[in-house]
Amino acid sequence: MKSNISKPAPLPTITLEDVGGLQDEMKEEISQTLAILKDPERSARMGIKPPKGILLYGPPGTGKTLLAQAIARELNAHFFSASGSAFNEMFIGVGASRVRSLFQSARKQQGPAVIFIDEVDALAGKRKPHGGEEGEKTLTELLVQLDGGHSNDGILFIAATNRKDMLDDAFLRPGRIDFTFQVPLPDTKGRREIIDIHTKGKNLSEEVLASLDELAESTSGFSGAELSSLFATASRLALRQGRDYLAKSDLDYALDRTILGSTTRALQDI
Ligand code: ATP
Repeated sequence: MKSNISKPAPLPTITLEDVGGLQDEMKEEISQTLAILKDPERSARMGIKPPKGILLYGPPGTGKTLLAQAIARELNAHFFSASGSAFNEMFIGVGASRVRSLFQSARKQQGPAVIFIDEVDALAGKRKPHGGEEGEKTLTELLVQLDGGHSNDGILFIAATNRKDMLDDAFLRPGRIDFTFQVPLPDTKGRREIIDIHTKGKNLSEEVLASLDELAESTSGFSGAELSSLFATASRLALRQGRDYLAKSDLDYALDRTILGSTTRALQDI
């Protein structure tokens, strides 16, 4: 199968405003990092090297991909995105050559580029004494590419994982991964922000509007993705009912379905 991971995606339209629930310190650290990346020469004069790699880790659906897109957007960078599993190949050398061509394509671009690898544990998992030769070669190539770039060559590598504990120590070394950000499940305030993001521009009944604080409080354990899907389900139901606004009954129905879905998934995991 021909892989097109070496092609940039269109410039993401996501901005940092679209990512809800980020802790204040994290927002601060991200904006400092962006300032360094935007003006590497100024930072160099102060002895600060721009980061080459950033790791985002946290549970599924908490906005890691969204955040990578927003960072690319802020930097006005070409966005290369792939899943770690896209580099797992049976044939020796194929995964490594995909890593190489991904970095080569990013370096060829005019202007900055962000390389985003989701589920990076599939590519940079801990090496096992009797692990496969192919996986080892692919990881080695990734380390070579991360070492090969200059910190101001305009390439920023962003990796995301739900399993930080599975990552190889060599991969996590500073100079390869310079910043690690935890993206946890949102707290009540975070969920309220995410609810605002996903209801923006939507027609909501007065009753729904008045219930949003309570919704944020009652959805402990929900990820951003689950909150987003909650409103998508509620909107579909409203449409099916021939309404052009969201009623409280749509939201209640969607909430029941989401909770039922998570419970079924949790039971399947037992
Ligand atoms: P995974 O670990 O499964 O790859 P992820 O952390 O990368 O998940 P995203 O793909 O960024 O999660 O989120 C999926 C969708 O859920 C987003 O497109 C967005 O609609 C919604 N979402 C998730 N987190 C947030 C958030 N913090 N703020 C706003 N929307 C969010």
